[in-house]
Amino acid sequence: MKQITTFDAAPFVWEGADLVDVPVPYYLYLEAHSRLQDAAEDKRFHGEEGDDEAFNLGCLADAIDSAWGTRDSGRGRPPVVTMTPDQLERLVWYAEDMSNFMDLPAERACGRRFLDKYYRWKNDGTPFLGQSKGQGQSSRDKLPSAAVEEIERIVHRTLKECDRVTWDVFGHAPDLDRMKMRITYSPNQPRSRAGRHTGRPWMSLGLFEFYAYWRATATSSDQASLGFQMCEYKSFAENALIGSALFEDWRDVLRGVVMHEYAHVVQYDYKYARRHYNSKLRGADITGHKDGWRTIYRALRTRLLNDRAICLGESNIRVWREKARDHAFNKILDEVEL
Ligand SMILES: [Zn+2]
Repeated sequence: MKQITTFDAAPFVWEGADLVDVPVPYYLYLEAHSRLQDAAEDKRFHGEEGDDEAFNLGCLADAIDSAWGTRDSGRGRPPVVTMTPDQLERLVWYAEDMSNFMDLPAERACGRRFLDKYYRWKNDGTPFLGQSKGQGQSSRDKLPSAAVEEIERIVHRTLKECDRVTWDVFGHAPDLDRMKMRITYSPNQPRSRAGRHTGRPWMSLGLFEFYAYWRATATSSDQASLGFQMCEYKSFAENALIGSALFEDWRDVLRGVVMHEYAHVVQYDYKYARRHYNSKLRGADITGHKDGWRTIYRALRTRLLNDRAICLGESNIRVWREKARDHAFNKILDEVEL
């Protein structure tokens, strides 16, 4: 799979680029949980001025709650919450109180450690995420948990869908339980590959781009109004069934990437376990992106994805894009006249 690009060739810039990724430790979560709710309520009672801030605090409370909500204890690496500098200041305020007034030494220590990290971030720009001792080294550990969880949920659901279609169409499918799967989120590793490795189905996905999309959506950037494009290889980008496609939702681009790679997994499985499959792939060239792979990918695309596309095929996408641009431009003109 080639690197996915959005409509604009310019580097991806999301609004709210000054958001901070902050691991929120357990005791700070407990403290923040009660105080943020109170503060948000309180603001709502006090005139219009406080409304934005109340909303802001409510959002922070929700984000922290949902990050910790799925855990059943305070153990483990703290979940990472993406927040505005304003919201962070609010947490710092609580951490200061904790370090001074809490009963338990562990609570006071938690507040102090948070403050240390905060000042390192504020004074020298050291990211919060690079500071924990138990910090994992993988790119996955550096992202907000909510992003990683959503992206991987989609990957696994899509694999199951692919498995079902492949059994249905080709009478057999690679053993998903034995599949070696590697997901990275490094901007330096945007590519995905798949096939077979030491006798097992194998897939390596480079998904950094989808973190950017996740974040753009979370900060309601208007990127979405231009659609999200899945780019296929030049040789079949125009193909209306397996070529490039444009979606309203970035999640569908991700599903498309998984399908492309899964088709390679089937291709290699077929090579070694031909006798288990039905005759649909018989005689096909099963190398590279030739007709064998295309037959598999086409089955997945037509059954699971193409219905959801705004349009299919590189040149159709270009036309749609021009129209979308014109439309946006006319809308601006309308507003100017008002
Ligand atoms: Zn490929």
